[in-house]
Amino acid sequence: MSDSKRIVVKIGSSLLANTEQLTPRWAFIQRLLEDVQALRAQGYEVLLCSSGAVALGLKTIGERPETAGLRDKQAAAACGMPLLLNAYKQVAHEFGFDIAQVLVTLRDLEDRRRFLNTKNTVHRLLQAGIVPIVNENDSITTEEIRVGDNDRLAAKVAQMVQAETLVILTSVDGLYDRNPEEEGAQLVETVGDVTEYLEVTEGVSSLGSGGMLTKMQAANMAQNAGCTTLIGNGETDDSLLLSLLDGTRAHTRCVAHTLPASAWTAWLTDRLQMAGSLVVATDAVEALCRRERGIRREDIQSVQGTFVKGDVIHIYDEDGAERARGLSNFTAEETLILARNKDIPAKQLLGYQTSATLVSRDNLVVLEDRHIPWDTPPEDLIEQVDGA
Ligand code: GLU
Repeated sequence: MSDSKRIVVKIGSSLLANTEQLTPRWAFIQRLLEDVQALRAQGYEVLLCSSGAVALGLKTIGERPETAGLRDKQAAAACGMPLLLNAYKQVAHEFGFDIAQVLVTLRDLEDRRRFLNTKNTVHRLLQAGIVPIVNENDSITTEEIRVGDNDRLAAKVAQMVQAETLVILTSVDGLYDRNPEEEGAQLVETVGDVTEYLEVTEGVSSLGSGGMLTKMQAANMAQNAGCTTLIGNGETDDSLLLSLLDGTRAHTRCVAHTLPASAWTAWLTDRLQMAGSLVVATDAVEALCRRERGIRREDIQSVQGTFVKGDVIHIYDEDGAERARGLSNFTAEETLILARNKDIPAKQLLGYQTSATLVSRDNLVVLEDRHIPWDTPPEDLIEQVDGA
């Protein structure tokens, strides 16, 4: 499934904007795009996932990163996006190629139809030999409906174009086995199972939104989609990308797992936000993990979220372990009505003819050890089926 010549590069804010002046780091952009052109000459198709819009725009609106609130950042993104893209465009032209801007929101990645729509646009740009530069449309997103960090956004893009490699350029050499400021901290060169390193990844960078945790989550998503992630320092005198790809510069390499069953399963399993969840009786969970059947209304004990038909919901067993993810056939409200009135035909309850299966067997993916399970949602958001 993976295209051996496709590479996604994520660039953090602190590499693109000077921390104090909040102006573009032209020399960095120059060196980055020089490498991009070198890769293109070797036959790679390159996509960038670039942060920096908010940082650059803060200067325009007279705010500082330390004190800016959500509305400041939204306005800053609107100012900074053209600055950032203009910088890329000018430099790309010097190297003889063109760039294009693709702004996405959470829904464009989480909703299957919108995901495919975005994918078609990106593919058309690649076909025309243009370097797509993807970023979140921060001006119109709020806390609840945003991806928030470009690490996971870049992983989604890598999954979308079935890239072979995701490069995350950041301000450290890679993942350390403990806080890099602690004495004796060692760079982890190869990561097979990302889930083993989640505990050592706290901390967020001062200019951007991500930290090592979001990088590990991104690497896990990429791994699950058959893509290898290289996390490396963007503050270097060496070449930025070529030296990571040929392994001559220290970095962390999160190796790809075997390819997922399909691009659809990778999309379904790797989520950016939880639309909703169900707690299902353990014996029923076992049956669906054996792929014997889908989820029936008599199986479920509680419902959480405001999901709609077609949203991906997370399936927990009675012990709170996440076991599967699948597409809901109903809204959260309909799901509760069906579950609370098991003996009444679905048509009578909902007013239309439908099977009462809540999640069909073919629309369920059973989680494996390599997937990062999500915590159970807070108790107060859960609706018990028995009404208790
Ligand atoms: N989308 C944000 C920006 O362009 C950055 C998000 C992040 O730091 O990962 O500034």
